[in-house]
Amino acid sequence: MNETQTKTAAMTPEERIEYARSLIQKSDNVVIMAGIGVMMECGALNFDRDTEAYRIEEQYHQCPEEIMSAGFYNVRMERFYDFYKKEILSTSLTPTATFPAIEKLYRSGKLKGVITYTIYGLHNEFDIGNVYELDGSIHDNHCSKCQKKFPMEYIRDSVGMPVCDVCGSRIRPGIRLHGERMRNDILTDAVNAVSKADVLLVLGTNLFDTNVRYAVNHYQNEKLILITKHEHFTDKAADLVIHESVCDVLPKLV
Ligand SMILES: [Zn+2]
Repeated sequence: MNETQTKTAAMTPEERIEYARSLIQKSDNVVIMAGIGVMMECGALNFDRDTEAYRIEEQYHQCPEEIMSAGFYNVRMERFYDFYKKEILSTSLTPTATFPAIEKLYRSGKLKGVITYTIYGLHNEFDIGNVYELDGSIHDNHCSKCQKKFPMEYIRDSVGMPVCDVCGSRIRPGIRLHGERMRNDILTDAVNAVSKADVLLVLGTNLFDTNVRYAVNHYQNEKLILITKHEHFTDKAADLVIHESVCDVLPKLV
């Protein structure tokens, strides 16, 4: 255990929140890593959950990862879009208090970047500066031939497979499918932000997740604050852990 971990391990929940607040207050370089937990608090489904995965398999006869893979998309595009439109694009999400809190942090000049691998782009409604979307966004769709861009609603409301209204070609969704590589430029920017961060706020995920782990490995300080409702055995690797909903805690910290 490092010095911060030893100090924070013995703290009460209230003391931890106060300590996290003081770390953020003293810092001028905060970076946020936002996970699926932040989106679940807004109403998003988590396909990694057993109950959801089971329902999808019953309904679509395939597991969510398979449907959301590049291989499936290429050969069974119609079924892919059926799933994508119903299960992802039709989910209605309501931003929680987390988002105005992130905006407040950005406007105070402390926040230098937000890294996320959630695809819903809910942050677009807020002024939060640089966002690195490692898995892309449901809002970044383009024609596979003429590159014309299409809003999410165009895909969601299309009948059957969405096609370009100019050239009739298929539209490529703006998200990274399983089996595809992350965009190198975005990954490089995200890693740069983490490596320069003074305070790293990891929200609504655990440190075991591959994407999180990759980014966190580049963090060089001892002020990694993890806020998550769901405990995980890797939580102890954080310098300070708060086991509560992100939307309940974050507004108290900024
Ligand atoms: Zn086109």
